[in-house]
Amino acid sequence: MHEMAITQSVLDAIVARLGEAPVTCVRLEIGRLSGVVPDSVRFCFDVLCAGTSLEGARLDIAEPAGRARCRDCGGEFTLDDFILLCPCGSADVSVLAGRELRIASVEVGHV
Ligand SMILES: [Zn+2]
Repeated sequence: MHEMAITQSVLDAIVARLGEAPVTCVRLEIGRLSGVVPDSVRFCFDVLCAGTSLEGARLDIAEPAGRARCRDCGGEFTLDDFILLCPCGSADVSVLAGRELRIASVEVGHV
């Protein structure tokens, strides 16, 4: 399960940076074109956080839409799925946004 490995690496990065500080909230950005399913990440997050300094932390996931630019007509358009096709009919497009998978912020509680 792809999301389990991704979620584990996110948690590892947070713990490596923050140590044992109790985390109350994690905000992630998962682009619509990243291929990562936010609901699966939510599930994995709850499972993997149990017994760690992140136990009970809230998970907020933003899902930025995809954007692409057409190399033929120069137009920019929104992508909601993996079909890279410009409204002009060209498939020669470059993806500008929507593949992000990153930690936007982490909130740390006070002991
Ligand atoms: Zn076009």
